[in-house]
Amino acid sequence: MLVTGALWQAEKIRIPRENLSSQYDICIIGGGFSGLWSAHHLLNLDPSLKIAIFEAREFGFGASGRNGGWASGEFPVSKDSLISRIGEAKTSQLLEALNHSIDEIAEFSDASVGVTKAGSLYFARNEAQLSRLKERVDDDHVFLSANEASEMLNVEGIKGGLFTKNCATINPFNLIKFLVHSLSKRGVHLFEDSFASATNGGVLVNSSYIKAPVVIQATEAFGDPGREFIPLYSLMVATEPISDSVWKEIGNSTRFTFAEASHMVNYAQRTTDNRIAIGGRGATYPFGSKLNPAKEKTAKVHATIRSLLVSWFPVLKDIQFTHAWGGAVAITRDWEPYLHWDRESGFARLGGYAGDGVTMSYLASKILAHEILDKPNELRGLHFVNSKIRKWEPEPIRYLGVNTLMKLSGLADKEERITNKKSLVDRVISPLILR
Ligand SMILES: Cc1cc2nc3c(=O)[nH]c(=O)nc-3n(C[C@H](O)[C@H](O)[C@H](O)COP(=O)(O)OP(=O)(O)OC[C@H]3O[C@@H](n4cnc5c(N)ncnc54)[C@H](O)[C@@H]3O)c2cc1C
Repeated sequence: MLVTGALWQAEKIRIPRENLSSQYDICIIGGGFSGLWSAHHLLNLDPSLKIAIFEAREFGFGASGRNGGWASGEFPVSKDSLISRIGEAKTSQLLEALNHSIDEIAEFSDASVGVTKAGSLYFARNEAQLSRLKERVDDDHVFLSANEASEMLNVEGIKGGLFTKNCATINPFNLIKFLVHSLSKRGVHLFEDSFASATNGGVLVNSSYIKAPVVIQATEAFGDPGREFIPLYSLMVATEPISDSVWKEIGNSTRFTFAEASHMVNYAQRTTDNRIAIGGRGATYPFGSKLNPAKEKTAKVHATIRSLLVSWFPVLKDIQFTHAWGGAVAITRDWEPYLHWDRESGFARLGGYAGDGVTMSYLASKILAHEILDKPNELRGLHFVNSKIRKWEPEPIRYLGVNTLMKLSGLADKEERITNKKSLVDRVISPLILR
């Protein structure tokens, strides 16, 4: 039977019911990684803080409980673009901080989270993909020949790969669960079914006013986008557990994450119970940036992801897919996250991780905690801290532009598959995508 829900969110998180106080030091809106890690880091700096977190649905309801479980050291903007934007030194500082964050997440987590820092393999199945991978070789990304790559992962038609050790595989919902329990033990008041909005000097929660000198908006794709970010849907499927003998054929005994170097984003992991959970983009952008949960169930995209997996590993041609789901990520025009703190009004917000939020939300909330409590930390100088968000184009240009680019990305992949050469379409879309 196919379950239309995230593989990870099998059970509810149970926490003690707290009485809502009329005042807190800090109120956090949103119970995903950004909100929960914010409380975690704030308490690390000042354990006496009285903090409440309000989640409109259940903790981990958003992208944090549904994602592909790549705790990756990659930033959504390419390294070359980053260097040209902020220089080598700041780029290295950011990438090191991300990699360090993976280790800190691993140190914090218990065994249920299944954190395995075994790296990531990006593989090429045509010459165009291969040449793109070669361009990304650096100290953290090692090029692998076809033989070396296929020894790690036996992908049909593999031409080579790029391996980085800076990625861990996790079970994202179990991390949410562990974080929630840890915060509850540390005295944080956690409320589900509590839709909240920031208002003068506090928050309005289900029509009760709660006073708080500091309010953090951690609602990522669910917030009011205006022209500051667009929600894009990422969709996933999971297989039934795969037998040991088939895994022997596929490889990946260490559970590194893996993806094909196509234009259309895709990402996969081997779960602790030996399934493959794989995701990809392709659902169209909703007009006016209006969230549309129906997009999470776009059957055509789920079918494309399933056939992508079987094309990698024909041995899986009869495998059962047990789960199909999706969720929204927030993407700013420059593909940069935002982290804003206004001391005067006491309002902070963070998000815009463009689908790379597992590690980034940890790092962003750590920086935010230092900003709010005005504690020294060299990471406060990172380029996106309190930086202005570049606006997306107004509608209908945005709708037409984003969906055309997505279509063209798919076409570029098809062209490269057929011609085995770098796509002509790619030359047109690359400068427009701006990563
Ligand atoms: C299918 C999918 C796969 C992904 N795969 C990866 C991956 O492998 N690696 C990676 O790094 N990133 C991945 N991402 C992105 C990553 O999951 C997100 O960037 C990250 O989880 C965002 O965390 P967040 O806490 O900011 O937002 P969310 O997790 O979306 O949390 C926001 C929460 O706020 C709540 N909320 C909204 N409005 C209100 C309100 N008014 N009052 C109270 N609560 C409210 C929502 O219910 C939600 O629970 C993926 C995302 C998706 C959807």
